[in-house]
Amino acid sequence: MKPVNEIFPFLDEPKNIVITFHQKPDGDAMGSGLGLYNFLVQFGHQVTVISPTNWAGFLSWMPGAKKVIDFEMQNEKALNVLKDTQWLFCLDFNVLSRTRNMEPILSELNCTKILIDHHREPQTEVFDYGISDTAKSSTAEMIYDLIVNSGHAGKINTEIAECLYAGVMTDTGSFRFNSTTAAVHKMVANLKEVGFNHSQVHENLFDNFLETRFRFFGNVLLHRMKIFYEYNTALIAIPQKDLIKYNVKTGDTEGLVNFPLSIKGIKLAAVIIDRGDERKSSFRSKGGFDVNTFARKYFNGGGHFNAAGGKNREPLEEVVKKFMEAIEENKEQLNN
Ligand code: 5GP
Ligand code: MN
Repeated sequence: MKPVNEIFPFLDEPKNIVITFHQKPDGDAMGSGLGLYNFLVQFGHQVTVISPTNWAGFLSWMPGAKKVIDFEMQNEKALNVLKDTQWLFCLDFNVLSRTRNMEPILSELNCTKILIDHHREPQTEVFDYGISDTAKSSTAEMIYDLIVNSGHAGKINTEIAECLYAGVMTDTGSFRFNSTTAAVHKMVANLKEVGFNHSQVHENLFDNFLETRFRFFGNVLLHRMKIFYEYNTALIAIPQKDLIKYNVKTGDTEGLVNFPLSIKGIKLAAVIIDRGDERKSSFRSKGGFDVNTFARKYFNGGGHFNAAGGKNREPLEEVVKKFMEAIEENKEQLNN
């Protein structure tokens, strides 16, 4: 993988570009993708953003979101765009399998592939150019750096500012996590000077849920959350029937894992959801417990040191059993 700076001289030669990110995109995936989109269109490129799957309704306000193609729902359209693409930007994921059904297509594509990501252990052999930096707060921050380093900071408009702010704010837990460096605050200050309304961004992202989401949270916190004080661990295992009962939509479970993590003494919090086709897990930790390694070892996943996820094919009860065995194996570290 050659350094991403090497593409800068070719930025102003119009071409067909596709931007993609991980399945079920979060604020950082969508924010970095649309931030880059709103930058690249200014050069006269034909730019298309393709999401591997659908996304949460609370991301749909982002400038450009209405033009994003859902690979599963608009498959033919997506394939048509992909076959003619010259540049493919892959954002906010480390391994192609994070693009779900797009993986075989992306592997076969004969175009210039560019990775911009901050997850651990990236599949660098797949990409021609790129940057992988786990010290970065968010992919949105990396897109900001790319724009500035390319010498085009003057192209940052309110659309780009809103998208990048949404990405960095969601991935830093509203500027709370350790990854929030001075550079992050400087970036936000520069974006503010462009003149966007940050409170509106918070409102768009966090104040647009339906009542059912909170009834669902109430139910799972009351009936599904188990605390294992001997392991400083909390687990919420959610059967599919709960998702159906409360009409849970994509994005509704985001943030749920932070509730058990905020219980005094808890170092590891997990949410395992039976989504029908697979069991999706989310792990969060505080301090020295590495959930990237934990998710990789037991749950076919990965991510960051303090935030990771994974997926399993086995039934929910078996995944829960696996989790209990995994925390037993890690008892010493969890008690540190
Ligand atoms: P979340 O719990 O919010 O789904 O994900 C937390 C972090 O772990 C994110 O940075 C996400 O990219 C990563 N992650 C989540 N699920 C998976 C997975 O199945 N595989 C890998 N490699 N990373 C994941
Ligand atoms: Mn991210």
